[in-house]
Amino acid sequence: MENSLKSKIAGFLQWYQDLYGGEWYIETPNPAAAEKRPGQTAALGNSTLQQFHRAIENCQNCPLGRTRTKFVFGTGHENAGIMFIGEAPGQDEDLQGIPFVGRAGQLLNKLLANVQLKREEVYIANILKCRPPNNRDPQPEEVEQCIPYLQRQIEMIQPKLLVALGRVAAQNLLNTTESLTNMRKRVWSYREIPLIVTYHPAFVLRYNDKFDSAMEDMRFILEHYQKLPEKEKPGR
Ligand code: SF4
Repeated sequence: MENSLKSKIAGFLQWYQDLYGGEWYIETPNPAAAEKRPGQTAALGNSTLQQFHRAIENCQNCPLGRTRTKFVFGTGHENAGIMFIGEAPGQDEDLQGIPFVGRAGQLLNKLLANVQLKREEVYIANILKCRPPNNRDPQPEEVEQCIPYLQRQIEMIQPKLLVALGRVAAQNLLNTTESLTNMRKRVWSYREIPLIVTYHPAFVLRYNDKFDSAMEDMRFILEHYQKLPEKEKPGR
């Protein structure tokens, strides 16, 4: 085998291992696989969050279905006025099946509490429902497969305000490559719902000096939220 071919194969294997660890994902064009998309379409038609959760919790539409421990649907008030959206489950979330339960989750609870918001009053979900190995960034194909689930959750909850936690969530929702710095302190729109961008709590844990800025963002979020018209059945 030519050296250049060997090195291309070695490069591919390294890239794949970086993405998915030791697990191999081979998509086979069999009838069962072909039925997934109609199945996904049917799942998206479920009318309650609980039914929808049950319909998609065994999803294998991308390679992360093979490497996850637990599927992480989302948690919170089904009629929440604010919906927080992170990037993907981390290690603690993957083990427990609940978003934002590790140290980053505790910090999020603290930020919410500082503006008198309780976690049970809001809804929290991620762009991806399964953990990427080693907490790497979601890949575009994974987002493409998974984001219809989040979109359906947003349709069902109909929040007054969306909050993107971190650069990755914000860039994927807004389809932009803007930096986090440029996206903060502005009101964007996602499918006609106002959207505000702030830091991911894990980033604030890593850079403690960002805590005050994260608090400023939280106050900006609350001020904007309070100006929005009430929902028919308010979540708070
Ligand atoms: S990340 Fe999303 S699309 Fe991929 S397997 Fe999990 S639920 Fe399915």
